[in-house]
Amino acid sequence: ARKRDGKNGQQIFDAGMLDAARERHEIEQCIEAGLREDWFETWLQPIVSLGDGKIVGFEALMRLNHPEKGLMPPGKIIGIAEETGTIGRIGERVLEKAIRHLAAIAALDGTQDTYLAVNFSPLQFEITLPHKLAALLLKHHISPQRIVIEITEAVLMLDNPEVHAVLKQLNEFGCRIALDDFGTGYSSLSYLNRFPVDIVKVDQSFTRSLSSNAVDVRRKSRMLIKGIRTISHQMGCTVVAEGIETEDQWQLLRKLGVDNGQGYLFSRPMPINDMVAMLENESEAKASHQA
Ligand code: C2E
Ligand code: MG
Ligand code: MG
Ligand code: MG
Repeated sequence: ARKRDGKNGQQIFDAGMLDAARERHEIEQCIEAGLREDWFETWLQPIVSLGDGKIVGFEALMRLNHPEKGLMPPGKIIGIAEETGTIGRIGERVLEKAIRHLAAIAALDGTQDTYLAVNFSPLQFEITLPHKLAALLLKHHISPQRIVIEITEAVLMLDNPEVHAVLKQLNEFGCRIALDDFGTGYSSLSYLNRFPVDIVKVDQSFTRSLSSNAVDVRRKSRMLIKGIRTISHQMGCTVVAEGIETEDQWQLLRKLGVDNGQGYLFSRPMPINDMVAMLENESEAKASHQA
């Protein structure tokens, strides 16, 4: 779908553009309806220690669950929500449910120390965020040390003093900051120096490259991951690899010194009920194994 020049220089929209405009309008309406009807859900994906495969935390991932159209992935929603200004309200719903879900998980045995990582768009760093988060944590008896704020470098590139102030406040409050999708875009190592980053999340494209058919791609991605890991550790950051789908990737990343990971190999993102059922099954299996 692209704009073509007409005979007299006028722009002509082809059918593809009309489709795109229609789809966009449809998504905008889904977002509004979703906020009204409470269709926004917070799914969870476990983050595991690559040493022993034990769960160390969960990433909260937003899903718009439309009663007729089904699940709409965040990729379709977030950009539009940022443009139309609904991202703030969506973010609040996602955060509220995420913390409620962590409280439900905390009520189960053996997962008292697991953390909750929540994704934030640049536009969500309002001056009221730390207070809103603090109130939610108090309400659900969750300590701020269990919260990880996931941001991409887009947040840091804004170079907005208000954003920095909010990040600093969240960090002083005890929350950790994770730099998401690291190694893509304009990744600058100086961010690790200038901002209170605690966790570096190596983008899933690196994990995928580990399994490339091309020998030199595999070799170079191993070197890149090792380099990112070394610098991150020297800066005092924990390293998480995203998108782990195979046993080979897991073992390689472990050997490369990556601390934690997440991916379909361990678990897909799932709704809270499924997650609770999975955790209960696991702890029952462990109990009967020990008996
Ligand atoms: P992200 O934060 O990098 O999240 C990881 C994405 O990788 C998720 O996609 C997850 O489902 C997917 N993933 C996990 N394991 C694997 C794997 O083994 N293989 C592959 N191919 N993919 C895997 P998802 O849920 O579609 O989210 C996409 C992006 O949308 C996220 O990337 C994040 O940037 C954004 N996002 C999600 N939820 C929220 C939210 O509540 N607020 C904001 N602002 N952004 C969000
Ligand atoms: Mg993330
Ligand atoms: Mg990521
Ligand atoms: Mg990503």
